[in-house]
Amino acid sequence: MQEFGTTIFAEMSALAVRTGAINLGQGFPDTDGPAEVIEAAVEALRTGQNQYPPGPGIAALRQAIARHQRHWYGLDYDPDSEVMVTAGATEAITAAILALCEPGDEVLCLEPYYDSYAACIALAQAVRKPVLLHAPTEPGGRFTFDPAQLRAAITPKTKVLLLNSPHNPTGFVATREELAAIAQICVDHDLVAITDEVYEHLVFTDAAAYKNDPAVESVRSGHIPLATFPGMRERTIQISSVGKTFSFTGWKVGWVCARPELVSAVTKVKQFMTYVNAAPLQPAVAVALNLDASYYPDFAAGMQSRRDLLRTGLADAGLTVLRTEGTYFVTCDVSSLGVTDGLEFCRAMPERCGVVAIPSQVFYDHQDEARHLVRFAFCKRPEVLTEAAKRLAKLK
Ligand code: PMP
Ligand code: GLN
Repeated sequence: MQEFGTTIFAEMSALAVRTGAINLGQGFPDTDGPAEVIEAAVEALRTGQNQYPPGPGIAALRQAIARHQRHWYGLDYDPDSEVMVTAGATEAITAAILALCEPGDEVLCLEPYYDSYAACIALAQAVRKPVLLHAPTEPGGRFTFDPAQLRAAITPKTKVLLLNSPHNPTGFVATREELAAIAQICVDHDLVAITDEVYEHLVFTDAAAYKNDPAVESVRSGHIPLATFPGMRERTIQISSVGKTFSFTGWKVGWVCARPELVSAVTKVKQFMTYVNAAPLQPAVAVALNLDASYYPDFAAGMQSRRDLLRTGLADAGLTVLRTEGTYFVTCDVSSLGVTDGLEFCRAMPERCGVVAIPSQVFYDHQDEARHLVRFAFCKRPEVLTEAAKRLAKLK
């Protein structure tokens, strides 16, 4: 692990605390999720649900996860053999990689990628094979990838394709056509897909995923799991967590859905990482997943209006704002401000304008692709975003 330093999130959040800057770096909301979910956790703490829960997670939570997958995606998972609770999506991804990869095996993913991927691939002594998600060259353009490049990166050692859509840090959301191409690659090359779907309920209504897709419009969620494509249900490990969808990022309760053989492989690793997790939070997460279905589009609409508020502030400050189709994040091209290194720029931002952001280059192996890109989080109260916009104007 010697090549790994402190995560950028720890560095930038500490910088925000030290300087009193507004933290638009690390992606966490500044308000809590639904009160009844908190009450359920308090109730569980008070009623003695404080000892080790069952290894795969409590039954009520596994049933709620299975119900959620059926309701939104028409995917049927047996809560007893095909669903497992983890310590956030992070543990689920790590345990899945460790379970599937022998030393030297290759993991295909899009670049940029969430920071923990490189670390857990390294822990497995596997090799990451990033394929570029190309940044748009015009404002308003989408990030895109070339399926032929994905296919060309496959070797006999490639075991796993690790997909994150909606995508952190770019805000890219894969369309049905893009997902179909990825699914075909997995089937043709007998890959297992690990899908990081933590932003599944944060796809915005102007995302390309919605266009001409009645199936998407009918459920009012633009996210389409890779597991819904032909041949993928049996070869996908679907991963998500409570953090982003319900604004409880500090709870670190996540889950895995897959066929029984894959779940038991992941369980083998997970049992020696954390054994079990957060007993009193599990019934509360079940309450969250059982909330009325109207919770989800309302939540996404609220976040979409925050996105637009921040976009306006960033554009007024002279930054070139790229398109955000989902997630918590807006990416900006800061070369219009004469910036040549996003990391230096982000380290200096608190002093220059009292705002913290994340340099996108840290999510790349090929950092030169992104020295001009900076990621801003908009999962904050509107008044905080308005104040941030006022401060960002000092950059001009
Ligand atoms: N994947 C992505 C893409 C993320 O942005 C995050 C941050 N929440 C995670 C995984 C980790 O999720 P969790 O906090 O549930 O471990
Ligand atoms: N997922 C969050 C982000 O991308 C941060 C999680 C973390 O701090 N590791 O900002």
